[in-house]
Amino acid sequence: MKKIIITGGAGFIGSNLVNFLLKKKYFVINVDKLTYSSNKYHLKNKINYKFHKIDINNQNKMYSLLQKYKPHAIFNLAAETHVDRSIDSPKNFIHSNIIGVFNLLEVIKKYKKKFKSIKLVHVSTDEVYGDIINKKVRSFEGDSYNPSSPYSASKASADHLIKSYIKTYKIPAIISNCCNNYGPYQFPEKLIPKMISNIINNKKLTVYGNGLNSREWIFVEDHCEALLKIYLKGKIGHSYNVGSNLNLNNIQIINKILKTFKAYKMKKGKNVKIKFVKDRPGHDFRYALNSQKIYKELNWKASTKIEKGFKITILWYLNNKKFLSSISKKLYDKRLGLKI
Ligand code: NAD
Repeated sequence: MKKIIITGGAGFIGSNLVNFLLKKKYFVINVDKLTYSSNKYHLKNKINYKFHKIDINNQNKMYSLLQKYKPHAIFNLAAETHVDRSIDSPKNFIHSNIIGVFNLLEVIKKYKKKFKSIKLVHVSTDEVYGDIINKKVRSFEGDSYNPSSPYSASKASADHLIKSYIKTYKIPAIISNCCNNYGPYQFPEKLIPKMISNIINNKKLTVYGNGLNSREWIFVEDHCEALLKIYLKGKIGHSYNVGSNLNLNNIQIINKILKTFKAYKMKKGKNVKIKFVKDRPGHDFRYALNSQKIYKELNWKASTKIEKGFKITILWYLNNKKFLSSISKKLYDKRLGLKI
């Protein structure tokens, strides 16, 4: 049975990836330091699964873990992820997203010298390419990086570090640059779960600026499938864009969520109306990926239609009310990202 370490496996994408790889019969070791955005589902009893509460910055513990399990791969998803928080307090982002990756690379470098080879699949973002204002343009893997927020700059830095370790130390790593994910287990500070939570709680649907900022959206399970393909068939040293080719602006997203609620006869209260609020500083207008490389080389394509993905997501939040109710509202109600 192949063993895989997932870092950040108690977060949104990580939780989905743990379940996905367990279904595919991998032995999964989840490593997470359990920040505010992690959930308790990692505590559930699962077969072929271990959880370790570790910060990826702890080189000794990470090295011991590699010695203990001798995993075939590490999927690195451990990161600080909320752009607004990165504007107010960038330090945590430097710690986990840059220094954390540096530590992981050092651990792998040391481990690789003594033991057999191990692959690093590093999960990065489309935000590294920066604002793609021209609607006819989509970012290619070879495009230069142009990050705008401390979050995207920290992710871009990590990608550069990894690329340098691939070249200099022959670290067998692959980078995936994925667009915006949606699905179960996402912390409600992010757009889609926040809107779902506000609808459930009969609250206004707050939208930054004029709501026309556009993102490419993928169902999280499609991303998990892409990551597995990248691990199994991706070329070492390469980057792969992982996109759905579907761009929607924030108003379109909210309308789609409301439509899903209506279609499945889920009630909404009187206060559920769009309310425009002050925009995020330096808010990028648009991200959009060209994902031809992964389509052609790895024969992967996002297969979940957004209507189906939204239905699964909304039903999950309705059937798992504890997920939202167990999170302190203080952690996601307050407007962040304005301390400039
Ligand atoms: P998340 O915030 O839901 O989860 C991140 C997890 O990482 C949390 O469980 C947290 O406790 C853990 N973590 C943070 N710092 C750590 C550290 N130093 N050591 C160990 N664990 C640590 O985030 P997510 O949305 O699941 O994102 C996962 C990864 O995917 C991130 O690297 C993010 O940049 C990337 N990504 C996310 C999206 C998206 O739309 N969510 C899109 C593209 C890329």
